[in-house]
Order: sequence, then C-alpha cells, then structure tokens
Amino acid sequence: LQETVPKRRVAIIGGGLVGALTVLYFAKRGWQVSLFELREDLRVPENKKNLSHRSINLALSARGLSALKNITLGLDEKILEHVIHMKGRMIHLGEGKLKSHPYGVFGECIYSVEREILLELLLNTAAKSTNVKMYFQHQLKRCNFDDGTLELENKKTGNPFQDSADLIIGADGAFSVVRTQLMRVVRMDYSQEYISHAYLELTIPPRVNDKGEKEFAMDPNHLHIWPRHSFMMIALPNRNKSFTCTLFMPFENFDAIRTEDDLMEFFRKYYVDSIPLIGEDQLKKEYFRNPRGSLMSIKCKPYHYKDRAVIIGDAAHCMVPFFGQGMNCGFQDVEILNGIFDEYEISSVQSNDKLALALEEFTKIRHPDAITICDLAMYNYIEMRSNVVKPWFLLRKRIEETLYWLFPTGSIVPLYTMVSFSTIRYSEAVQRWKRQGFLLNVIGMSLLTAGTAASIYIGYYRFRRV
Ligand code: FAD
Repeated sequence: LQETVPKRRVAIIGGGLVGALTVLYFAKRGWQVSLFELREDLRVPENKKNLSHRSINLALSARGLSALKNITLGLDEKILEHVIHMKGRMIHLGEGKLKSHPYGVFGECIYSVEREILLELLLNTAAKSTNVKMYFQHQLKRCNFDDGTLELENKKTGNPFQDSADLIIGADGAFSVVRTQLMRVVRMDYSQEYISHAYLELTIPPRVNDKGEKEFAMDPNHLHIWPRHSFMMIALPNRNKSFTCTLFMPFENFDAIRTEDDLMEFFRKYYVDSIPLIGEDQLKKEYFRNPRGSLMSIKCKPYHYKDRAVIIGDAAHCMVPFFGQGMNCGFQDVEILNGIFDEYEISSVQSNDKLALALEEFTKIRHPDAITICDLAMYNYIEMRSNVVKPWFLLRKRIEETLYWLFPTGSIVPLYTMVSFSTIRYSEAVQRWKRQGFLLNVIGMSLLTAGTAASIYIGYYRFRRV
C-alpha cells in the first residue's frame, strides 16, 4: 500500500526554527512535505549578510531539547556539541560587584545556542529527506483551506506561484498570514499586546590574553544580567568567545539617548562595568546602527480548522522573551502535535476522519499551556530586572531551593526548574507554583519573625548585662 498510494501532502509555511523542525517530524511520518519560506536560504554563504538581527543567540532548555531528541535523528546530541552551558544568572550589581545565582540546585543548566547554527542543522537534515521540497523566497499571500490551495509569490522573480496540500501548517511567526487566513473561517479569539519596552543588541567581543589567544571577557557559563529595576541588560555567550548583549528598556528611554554623549552618560550611570568590555567606540557604533525590536505577546484560539490547517510556534502564541521559552515552547508544540498524530493513528497515505479530532485535541491541550507561558514570560521580566536584587525574593528563593534540595521528590519545586528543566505542562507548573507560594510565604514570615524575636531578645539580654 505504501508503495502505490500517493502520500498525503503537507505544506508548512515558514522555515524559521519551528517550521524547520515540523518539516522533519512530518517527513519522518512519511508525508510529502513542502516548506515555503519568505526569506533566502541562510545555508547559502552570500545570504548570511541578509540575516535578520533578531536575537543572535537563544537559550535552549529541556522542552526544546526533548523535541529535538524525540525525533530520534540525533539532533539533540549534534546541537549540544555547539552550545555553551549556562549554569546560572550572574547579577551585575553595579560598581563591578557580581553575584552568581545558580539555576538549579543539582547543577542543571540551560544552553546558549546560535539561532543560525540551529536553523542550519534543521534545514540541512531536512534537505537529506527525499520526501521534502523546500522553497525559499516564497511568500504565502492567501490560502483556501477547504480545497487546500495556496497562493504564493516567488520573491526572486516576482511571479505568482500556486500549490495545494491536504494539510496546511502555519509556522510563519508573529505576523502569521496563515493565522489571518484562519480568522476568516473560524471564530478565532485573538489578542495582541505590545509592551512599552524595546530591545537592542550589542556585542562584547573576545579579549586577547597575554599569549595572544582569544578568550571570553566574562564568565561564559552564566547568563549575565544587569538588573536596573525598570530596565535591564542581559548577555549570552557565543562560541566565538563573544557575548551578545540585549538591552531592554522603554522606547522613551531609547529615544532620550540622542547623542554619543547621552549614550556614554547613560552607560556610565547604569552599566559602567560593561563599557570596557564592549569598548567605547563599538558601543557608540552598535547602539546607533543596530535596529530596535519591539516585543509583544499574542494569544489566540483555536489553532486549527477542521482537518485542514493548524498554526504552531509564534504564529499561535508569541511571547515576550524573558523566560527564554518562545522557541522551546514552539518545539514542544511540534512534539505534542506528533504525539497526538500517533495517538489518533493519523496515516500519511490516506485521509482519516480522525484528523479533525486530532487537530482539535491539539488546540484543547496546547492553548491553556501557551497562554500560561505567555503570562509567565511577562512576569519573569519583573523578576529579572527587579526582583533578583530584593531581599524578600532572595529569602523565599533560598528557602524554596533548600526544600527542593532536601526533598527533590517533595511538593516544593522551584518554578524555574519546572519551566526550564522539565517538560511538565506549563499550566500544571503554575498551579503547583501558586500552591507552594503560600507555604513559602508562611515559612519566610516565620523565619523573619523568629529572627526578629531572637535579635530583640539578644539585644535586651546584652542591655541588661551592661
Ligand atoms: P519565526 O522564527 O518568526 O519564523 C517564522 C518564519 O516564517 C520566518 O522565517 C519568516 O520569514 C517566515 N514567514 C513569515 N511570513 C511568511 C509568509 N507569508 N510566507 C512564507 N514564510 C513566511 N526563545 C527561546 O526559546 N529562548 C530564548 O532565549 C529566546 N530569546 C529571544 C530573544 C529575543 C530578543 C526575541 C525577540 C525572541 C527570543 N525567543 C527565544 C523567541 C524565539 O525567537 C521565537 O519564539 C522563535 O523564533 C519562534 O519560531 P517560529 O519558527 O515560530 O517563528
């Protein structure tokens, strides 16, 4: 049967990280896969100069790795050869003072990976598959889900291009055309929120040591944070021994820096230790040259239409980047969709009336988790830029980590551990976090009360002796 019956065709729109992984999962399932990507093929050397400036490197963690592993092509092992381990946050307190906060009590770490390397790995693997065709510089304009027709434009020639598919998967990012087309045929709830903060990327180049060798200018095994309450800067290491810094702050603060003097005054006030690391000239050059990106959160429901279409990744749920989960969550979408296809026994050779149920199940399972991580990502911005230097937060964190260290299978597990080092549902992680939050507050207050009482008693005793 496999030999004679034509394979079912899936069109994947968007060859970013999530789309490229989806190609591999569907190729492995035996579907005839067409990938349509608006941009040029980044594997061609001359296209590299046109790469977008969006987050040069990313934090890969358990969910992303699980999806890379589950396809059993050895992608997890391959990518781990190209990452840098980040075992904690390094807080730059000002005046050059540093404080390390480990991410996990058992030495767990997240991984800094370059977007380009990961995408190249996925696309190169896809190119080896005989049932995959990849069309770069092809932009989806519109589609008709009921008859599966796709209208695209070949951006190189400007000519229209048409194709058709049994299933259309939208992995075309935050401004998804597939999502817009879905809105025409399903009653989609949709919300989009821009935050008032923008981001801009800067580089800390490698420094050259006494032997003339390049080395990292800061500890490479940390994610560096300069928390400044209403804004912050972070830095992730790259394999070429540089760091990519991302400055997050309100648009009006960016606008207020008009001249090089303004910039230096701002950096001297808030990020003085970073100036010699970035270099004054490079800082001025990059700050005024590099684009500012806006940040937004998108929630929508449903993600699917009958047995004809589904959206995943940023197209379905775009989040602010403060939990380092956008890509990880998108990769997990692909793994979950694949698991549902297994469960519903969706075949690659014949139409199956269970496909509509499978896609519906995807929306049902994934939506509560996607909105949870969108909200958590917003919350984590406050944690990163402000809470990490507050005594009450640090006390609670210490208690939480101690209890988890003492009873790893107990009921207290730090939120960061559940989100970044496990694959449990985001919604379940938050429910547990809220439950344990009450307990931690009680323990924290009791410790504070006991500490205060002890200090008063000791003070009184000493006073009496005097
Ligand atoms: P995208 O990466 O946006 O890819 C969509 C693709 O679709 C693009 O290649 C685009 O060209 C193509 N496309 C769009 N429209 C069309 C069309 N009409 N026709 C054909 N093709 C089309 N996530 C993490 O997990 N960890 C991190 O540390 C992290 N850091 C981040 C830092 C920043 C500053 C930002 C902005 C994001 C960060 N993210 C991080 C989030 C992560 O970048 C995204 O979640 C991830 O890239 C989403 O992948 P995607 O494939 O769904 O969408």
